[in-house]
Amino acid sequence: MGRQDLVCARCSGLVIEGRCPTCRASREYLRRNSVTLSPQLLLAILAVVMVLTALAVRHAT
Ligand SMILES: [Zn+2]
Repeated sequence: MGRQDLVCARCSGLVIEGRCPTCRASREYLRRNSVTLSPQLLLAILAVVMVLTALAVRHAT
C-alpha cells in the first residue's frame, strides 16, 4: 500500500498531486511523518545497539 496512491475525499484526485487545500495538507502531513519517523527509528536502533555493545564489553572484561 503506497502513499502515492491515496485519493482525496474532497476532490477525488490523487493526494500527491495537491489539487485542493485538503490534498496539500494531507500531503504535507504524510511527508512530515515519513521524514520524522525514520531518524527516530534509526536513533532507537542505534541506542539498542550501543547498550548491547556496552553490555558485551562489560562481560568480556
Ligand atoms: Zn483534494
